[in-house]
This record gives sequence, C-alpha cells and structure tokens, in this order.
Amino acid sequence: MSAKTAEDHFGLLADIGEISALLSDSPDLQGFLDRCVVMVANHLTAQVCSIYLYDEDTRMLTLRATHGLSKAAVGQIRLAIGEGLVGKALKELRPICVAHASDHPDFKYFPEAGEEPYDAFLGVPIQRGVEKIGILVVQRHARDRFNNVEVMAMRALTSQLATAIETARTLLQMAVPAEVAAPVPPPPRVVQRSFFVNGNAASPGYACGPSIQFMRHPVERMLQLSREHEGSGGSSDDAMLDRAIAATLGQLVEMQEALGRKLPEVASLIFEAHMMMLKDRSFVGAMRERMHKGESAVRAVAEVATQYIGIFEASSHDYVREKARDVEDLALRMLTNLNGGDSGVGSDWRGRIVIARELLPSDILKITLADVAGIILVGGGLTSHISILVRSLSIPMIVADELLLAGVADGDKVLLDADAGNAYVNPTRDVIVRFEERDRLRDKAILHGAAMRDETRMKDGTRVRLLANINLLSELDMALDLKAEGIGLYRTEFPFLIRQALPSEEEQCKVYTRLLTRMGDREVTIRTLDAGGDKMMDYLNDGAEPNPALGLRSTRLLLRHRDIFDQQLRAILRAGTGRERLRIMFPMICSLDEFRQAKGIAEECIEALAAETGDGVTRPEIGMMVELPSVVDLADAFAREADFFSIGTNDFIQYMLGVDRANARVFEYYCPHHPAVLRGLKRVVDAAKHRKIECSVCGEMAHDVRYVPFFLGIGIRCLSVDPHYLPEVQQCVLGWTEESAAAYAASLLAENVISDIEKRLLDKAPV
Ligand code: PEP
Ligand code: MG
Repeated sequence: MSAKTAEDHFGLLADIGEISALLSDSPDLQGFLDRCVVMVANHLTAQVCSIYLYDEDTRMLTLRATHGLSKAAVGQIRLAIGEGLVGKALKELRPICVAHASDHPDFKYFPEAGEEPYDAFLGVPIQRGVEKIGILVVQRHARDRFNNVEVMAMRALTSQLATAIETARTLLQMAVPAEVAAPVPPPPRVVQRSFFVNGNAASPGYACGPSIQFMRHPVERMLQLSREHEGSGGSSDDAMLDRAIAATLGQLVEMQEALGRKLPEVASLIFEAHMMMLKDRSFVGAMRERMHKGESAVRAVAEVATQYIGIFEASSHDYVREKARDVEDLALRMLTNLNGGDSGVGSDWRGRIVIARELLPSDILKITLADVAGIILVGGGLTSHISILVRSLSIPMIVADELLLAGVADGDKVLLDADAGNAYVNPTRDVIVRFEERDRLRDKAILHGAAMRDETRMKDGTRVRLLANINLLSELDMALDLKAEGIGLYRTEFPFLIRQALPSEEEQCKVYTRLLTRMGDREVTIRTLDAGGDKMMDYLNDGAEPNPALGLRSTRLLLRHRDIFDQQLRAILRAGTGRERLRIMFPMICSLDEFRQAKGIAEECIEALAAETGDGVTRPEIGMMVELPSVVDLADAFAREADFFSIGTNDFIQYMLGVDRANARVFEYYCPHHPAVLRGLKRVVDAAKHRKIECSVCGEMAHDVRYVPFFLGIGIRCLSVDPHYLPEVQQCVLGWTEESAAAYAASLLAENVISDIEKRLLDKAPV
C-alpha cells in the first residue's frame, strides 16, 4: 500500500475539485462516472472503485460505474438499503471500513462482480444535504486495509463529488415523454408616459438605465417565437447545433472565470450542471432527432428544453425541481448562440434596471454576472438575506407595488433613487441632472471616509472597537479601506445560499482561508451556518415547515445534520490553523444545553483534526450570538461558558416583539427602541461585564446613530457594522463621553412607553 499522508490526499482534492475539467474531458455522463472511479482508485491505490447510485423511488442502490470489478455487473447489481456492506453504509449514513469483508455478517456475495480477491472494503455515503445520492466504494486485497487518513480522504472526496454525481444520476434517470402543450403567450405590454413610483428602499444607491422585465420562463417565450416563425428559420444542420454547443461550453467556462473574480466564494462548480446537460446524450440526441425530422435547430432546442423543464418541475423532489432552472438557463444560452447572439426575448441585462417579481438566491448569480444597474422588486417576496446580499453587491434596489409599476414597458428609462426608495419612469432631463449631481457628491463623501482614524475613541478617550460585517469576500476591500479593525460577523451562509448546493469542506476551507489571509492579524469572527427561516436552503431541509422562522433553523439545523456542522467547523479550523485571532460563534442559541452541545462538537472537531494531521490545531475563541429572548434571563450562566457574546439585534427584536423582520405590513411594530428590547439588551451587557467577557453588537441597530450612544451608555465597547457605515459610526462615537452616553441610556431605560422613548431619541451626536 502507498504511504500517502493527509497532505497528499488534500492535494488531490484540488484536482478533483476541477470537476468541470473532469466533465469536459468525458464523452458523456457515463464517461464522467467512469473517469471518477478511475481517478479515485488511482489516488487511493485501490484495485477497485465503484459508484452505487440510490434511487429514491425504488429505494434501491444500483452499481453504476466500476473500475476493477466486472463491467458486466454495471446496472445488474442492485441492493436495498441495509443490504450488504454497501446498503449498510447508506442505511447508517456513515463510512463502513472492514479489513475482511467476506467474514462480516453483513457481507453479500455477488458472483457476477468478481470481487473475491479484494477483501479490504471501504464504503462512504455520497450525500448532498439530506439527500441520499449513493455510495462510493473502494476495495483492496485484505493485507492492505484502509486506514483513518484514507477514510477521511474518501469522506472529503465524496463531499466534493456529491453535487456532480447527483446531477449525473438525475440526468441518467431521465426519460423524455411525449410533447407538452404549448404555453399561453403573455399579454402584450403597453408603453406609457413618464411617472413616479414610491416604494421602499432595500439596497441604497443610484442607478439610471433602460428597464427590463426579469423573465422567469424565457424558454417558453422562445418556443412560442420559434413556432410563430416556423418555416422562415432556414435550414438547420448538425454542424450548426455543434457550433452552438461549442460556443455555449466556451461561455460557461468564461462565466465560471468571471464569477471567480466577482464572487470567489461561489465560483467553483457553479455551472457544472449546465455542462453535464451538454454532455447528456439523450438531451442533445433528442434535439438532433427532431432536426433530422425537419424541425429548425431553434425549435428543436426549445421543445426538448421545455420537455425537460416540465419533467423536472413535476418531480416531488426539491433538488430535481431546482434543475428546471439550469435547463432553462442552458437552453436560453444555446438558443441565443443559434440566433447569432440575440435571444429575441431580452436577456441582456447589462446596465439595465431589472424589474422582478421574485428574487431567488440563484438569480443573484445571473444578476451579478450580467452587471445589472439596479433592481425593482415588485410586491413582497424579499427575504432579509436576499436584501443583505444585494446590498453586499452594492446593487441599488427598491421594493415597489405591482400596480404602480404596471405601466413600465421594457426599454423605458428608469431612474432609481434607492436611498429614498423611489423610481422615476421616463424621467425628465432636470430630474436626471439633479440625481447625477447628488451621485457625484455621494462619491466625494465616500472618499472622505478614507480619512477614518485608525482607532476610535470617545471624547474622553474611551476606546471603542469598530469592526465590519461581511457577507461576501468582495466587501473586504471596503472594510480595509475604511479601517475596520477586524470582522465582527462573517455570515457564512452565502456560498450555501447562492449555489443551491452544499459546498464541500474543501471549498469552504478555501473561502475561509482567503478571508483570514486578507485580514492578516486582525480579529475575525466566523459565524457558523445560519440557514433556515427566511434563508431557506431546500437541499438542507427535508420538508416545508408551517412556520420556518420558528422551525428547524440555524444551530438547531446543524445539530440535526452533524456532518454538515462537522464539515464547516473543520473547514474553519483548518483555515484558522496558526492564526491567533480567529473566533467562532454560533447563531440563534436558545439554551445552555444547545450551546454546550455545539461547543462540544467544536471541541471534538479540534481533537479529531489534531489527531488526523498530527499537528496542533489553534483553538479559536468560541462565542455565541444573542438573538433570542430566552438568553436574557440566562445571560449570566451563558457568560460563564461562552468566550464572548455578539448581539444580533435584527433577530433579537423580531423574537422579542414577535414581529417578522422582513414583513413590510408589520414594519411599524418592528421597534428597536421598544422598552423591553432596550432593557433586555442592558441585562445581557451587564452579565457579560460581570463575567468579564466581551459583548459586541452586530445587528443593524449598531449602525444607527440614534442607538450608538445608547450602546455606549450601557457599556458596549465594540460595534460591528456593514463597512460603508463605518465613517458615520466613528463620527458618532467621537461625540460622546462615557458619562454623557450613560446619562442618555439611562433616560431611555427609564421610560415604559415607546412614544416617550421616541421623544428622547436623538438623531445625531451632540456637538
Ligand atoms: C441579527 O440577527 O442581528 C444578525 C446580525 O444576524 P442576521 O441578520 O444574519 O440574522
Ligand atoms: Mg440573526
């Protein structure tokens, strides 16, 4: 057996990570699986490597690719959950590693496989979130049993390959049924005069450009166009389709690279599903077949894509339904290439104001790649995390009423004043000039921010630390330019959210390494995954919940899905090795029991990692977010066990007052200065002071100059805010002394009635 070290194994993951390359070098999907097994077998110097795929409908595992066993067994060997060692790995959802497989009570013999000589067995489940995908098995002669490092490497490999294998499985299982009915065309739009729309600000900024409707089903529209023009489309041949496929593949690779520059945390593998479709013989084959019967290429692509979309959308599995969007994107791209670069349905968003009825996390990718100027979201449909994400990308956005916008036609000029939440449709020259001037002044003000002091002190010299909240790595530049002393909240959910797939430990480790490297020796607090609630990730949750804000979310979800929790903690710990100022915090902690459990898992990960690598693992500080009212009464007990507190006022207010933070209809009830909120915050800070742990604030209240002096007054000495607020918050802190802030806080805490507190709220620092 080769004596490969953990380092060697992790080195290979970088290569495996290039799944796009693995894919583009494979003739088709079966070829892709075949290449996977060869690659894994070679790397682990195993004589056998096999992939068994699980079918949710039949509840059976089937051998789908093998290197080392008889090829004739592919498609023939089938096992139920719990049957044989392979079925056992799936049933127990853990690696099964045995030295003498044939002696094991669960061993099942398949004469057609030819596996007698290979007695050392290691089977690792392939999972994506809660989705069971299959089992990756390696086998060797018994004298070469698999060791712990190899088990670890196989786990890492399966997590890296999971999404790609799952996509391949879905496509291989697909069968294209008879034609689906033609969709009903949307009603024609009417162009209207100039008018003004007042909505709500969701992401600040100014933008001006032609509008475009965000079309959810562009392929249906294209299909309709192709039917309308049937006969006039000219001849279509295989070479034409081949050119469109080649051009599409080239664009996918380019997009992957462009995304790598803009959103490095989600770039890898994002277009793999698209590439797989282009490799799927039945997908492209069905198009060719239609063309050979006389259909134009445009129509053949649109029809086949529509059929696939229909099948995917009809699935009872979320992850399959999700693929309908991939097909749609891919088909639109192919059709655009067939049409000489013009999709005919308006898909060029560069410099435009996009009007959307709903924004999904995956749409953010398209919007980012397309250099959209601004967004108007019609109706509700805005989750707080989508708005945080759009803000992180610095795209101006407002939320407006459907009726008010009904008269906007594609191409109408729209001026977006997202600071005020207004849109001017077909604005006059005067309005444009006025806003351009304001925009210029704003740029000047941002430059002025560069005059930030390195350290922030109150008027009497009391030191206050100002940190940045970061959601995307692209925000780090601004945080550093504006002299953030560190990162007080790194929201890790965005790579999970945008990709609609679970990033592997390796991918996460790369993101955290970039973050920590960029921040050098400054303090960085990484929050573990805060999924669920309004940042739902279907692939992580196995069923819709009647009340997601109170459901299986955040740390609860991670405790339920231990592998995901372990993978994230390990990725953070690996990235943080050798760094002194890394902190980990758990969101939405509700009880001491829950905190202990989460902290215990982090300790186990530290020990396991130290044992695996043989090196020391730097132990980070482990703290918690204060976001639930249940923490207030127990704050002293928590402060004895947590290394630090960070108050998430966004959720603290939501749960304290029972008001949905993202629901515009109850906006006036979402009151940060409610007396119970202010007093609750004070009790938490008192407990932290008493136990001598740091308590910072990272919710949005921390950047509001009406509340900053309150926080200073109750003893907060560390605030973490979105980077662009840093200059304003620093200016505010400079204007207060410990004494004046304490008096201000006391005056607010003395009131029982919201309106009385409002009379005392200042809107700027005293001069
Ligand atoms: C909060 O709840 O205040 C917070 C900072 O977390 P998030 O906004 O990500 O829920
Ligand atoms: Mg929160």
